[in-house]
Amino acid sequence: MTGTAASPARTVRAQHVFVVERIEQLSPHLVRVTLGGDAFDGFVEAGAEQLAAADRYVKLLLPPRPGLGLQPPFDLDELRAALAPADLPVRRTYTIRRVDAATRTIAVDFVVHGDEGVAGPWALAARPGDLLQMSSPGGLWSPSDDPRVPDLLLGDDSALPAVASALEAMADDARGLALLEVEGASDELDLVRPSGVELRWLHRDGAPAGSVLLEALRALEPPTSPLRVFAHGERGAMKEARVVLHDTWGLDRSSLSLSAYWAFGRVEDAFQAEKREPVGALFAD
Ligand SMILES: Cc1cc2nc3c(=O)[nH]c(=O)nc-3n(C[C@H](O)[C@H](O)[C@H](O)COP(=O)(O)OP(=O)(O)OC[C@H]3O[C@@H](n4cnc5c(N)ncnc54)[C@H](O)[C@@H]3O)c2cc1C
Repeated sequence: MTGTAASPARTVRAQHVFVVERIEQLSPHLVRVTLGGDAFDGFVEAGAEQLAAADRYVKLLLPPRPGLGLQPPFDLDELRAALAPADLPVRRTYTIRRVDAATRTIAVDFVVHGDEGVAGPWALAARPGDLLQMSSPGGLWSPSDDPRVPDLLLGDDSALPAVASALEAMADDARGLALLEVEGASDELDLVRPSGVELRWLHRDGAPAGSVLLEALRALEPPTSPLRVFAHGERGAMKEARVVLHDTWGLDRSSLSLSAYWAFGRVEDAFQAEKREPVGALFAD
């Protein structure tokens, strides 16, 4: 399916409706949903360039709560005329963790962060045969292709899928360090990575998201040679990471892929809207 309208203020990407094939609990706080069906070919064709990036992502379109009887494909113009704003499907941004041409499936890993929100609870309740609508993919970042320039990868659980994809995409002779913050030891995953890239799991053990990641970042020695950084997670933590990486270490913005993936106390709609305000900006300009 293509061409479902989105808000005129946004880039309108083609829409695709996948069918849930499988749900796996990867860890206590991460659920993998594997998606297949007829949408696969069109999705891959529409986003071939973006799907080559490690940070490839989509905008999911989900009913705001169960029980409304809304089923993809959503015609937003039609729904806007018929439903209260609070009942309209909402957008949520997710990494495409895997694209498997052999099985013609893609996989999305969802952090389950309690009863709040739309996408986390949707993933927990998902069943084979459910439909999931998403945009064509975006994505920009890929690991260093120069073994002399290492990558530093930083993330909380929300960025774990992107960091895991980046580790998998690295060349065999790549060097670097990945710091991944999760709740506890049972949330660690077995991630494929080159032998020259160290992976350190950091446990929150009840501390606020991002706090342990920042502590580990601040404990690192500043680099003395070129370094590329991929850092994503909770907004407040990413602002503090900017202070270390850019303001203190002096890394140029061109070597930083740094962004907020979510923010404490904000549903994604509010979080995205705040990107246009000072509170939502990671850099002053
Ligand atoms: C480019 C990009 C890629 C992303 N990739 C992924 C991905 O692959 N997997 C993934 O799980 N997330 C990913 N995220 C983050 C995800 O979009 C947000 O976490 C989103 O808010 C989840 O939607 P929701 O409906 O579950 O919660 P919302 O309705 O948006 O929020 C409800 C409440 O839950 C809180 N909340 C939201 N996310 C989290 C969280 N991770 N931990 C704790 N509390 C939270 C909010 O602060 C809010 O109070 C990505 C974000 C971006 C920008």
